[in-house]
Amino acid sequence: MTDTEQRLAAIRGDAPPKRHNARTIAALTGNPGCTRRAVLDGAGVDKPALAERVGFPARFGQSRFAITRGNTFEAQVKADGGAELLRLVAARLGVPVPAATRWTDLGDGDDPATRARRSATLLTEALPPSGYHPDEPTGAGEPGEPAALFDHPMLGLAVAGQRVHLEPDLVAARLGGRFHVVEIKSFPVVDGQADPAKLAAAAVQSAVYVLALRELLTDRGHDPRLVSHEVVLVCPRDFSNEPVAHLLDVRRHLLVVRRQLDRMDRLDTLLADVPADFTADPAADPATLVGSLARVPARYAPDCLASCELAYFCRHEARGQTGALGRPVREALGGIADVAEVLALAGGETVTDPDRAEAAALLRTAARLRADALATG
Ligand code: SF4
Repeated sequence: MTDTEQRLAAIRGDAPPKRHNARTIAALTGNPGCTRRAVLDGAGVDKPALAERVGFPARFGQSRFAITRGNTFEAQVKADGGAELLRLVAARLGVPVPAATRWTDLGDGDDPATRARRSATLLTEALPPSGYHPDEPTGAGEPGEPAALFDHPMLGLAVAGQRVHLEPDLVAARLGGRFHVVEIKSFPVVDGQADPAKLAAAAVQSAVYVLALRELLTDRGHDPRLVSHEVVLVCPRDFSNEPVAHLLDVRRHLLVVRRQLDRMDRLDTLLADVPADFTADPAADPATLVGSLARVPARYAPDCLASCELAYFCRHEARGQTGALGRPVREALGGIADVAEVLALAGGETVTDPDRAEAAALLRTAARLRADALATG
């Protein structure tokens, strides 16, 4: 064990590290500036258990109903060897529907490592013929070559020194000359619009799969650009079960995920500023844990509620700070960190710090306008 690994093991306690998945890796990008989160996730701490132990249990996650609905929709879309899915994907990519398709189910049996090896072999066998150049994508594929759809292939990615297994819903090969990750989600697209938060989460999660698939090709000596940065997202249309496909460009998300994974790889740098006796072991005494967590800086924002199990603890800790209301609110309040100070300045308190003068003038004006509006009302 390296020194860093020993420290991380001491931080999380006796338990083995919690393994990441695409959802948790995607969530890492939600608050990349939070040291507390990077250390806890890097150490593989059981954050739901930790949150519960300090008295602020996590309250998010998919309901059983949503999971069942998602599984049913995915099974419907993939029925008949993916015939309808192939038509949807080909139409969205603007290529003809191939006459022949090979469907490979990689989702069952074997342990994850064996599945990952088998997936890697079959995926690389589906590479376009030699001579193909990623900058010049072909049409549906070479004549006589069937399209290939891989159901639940097992991919891998290194996260904070751990190998994490990842399972996209589907990877399509030989369509548009590249590999395409296909994600099937059960949230609806109503009048061509999906819930922006769900869409953003799907894009980041898909970017994780694209990254993993690109690393697989690179490891096997192939050009990673053979994996498209365009992901096909399949959702129910309006309030029906009719599937509709959209293209998501995940280039920006790829950069964000890569940057955060690189940061996780440099945990020793982050750990240099973490107290030597810092513990997040869910078996420790709650008061010890609260004191310990307080010594590692967090950067709470309302987005944490949807992406980090420690959100209610951090929100409680951040009460009285403008940052807890979100970055736009904090900026609108002149960048002042403390709610009490904002109220004091708005109430006309004398400003001693020249850097606060402009913010104080704006806050006083806002307070006067609000008072006028209330009086008029
Ligand atoms: S909930 Fe807390 S630990 Fe998690 S990302 Fe937000 S501030 Fe960081």
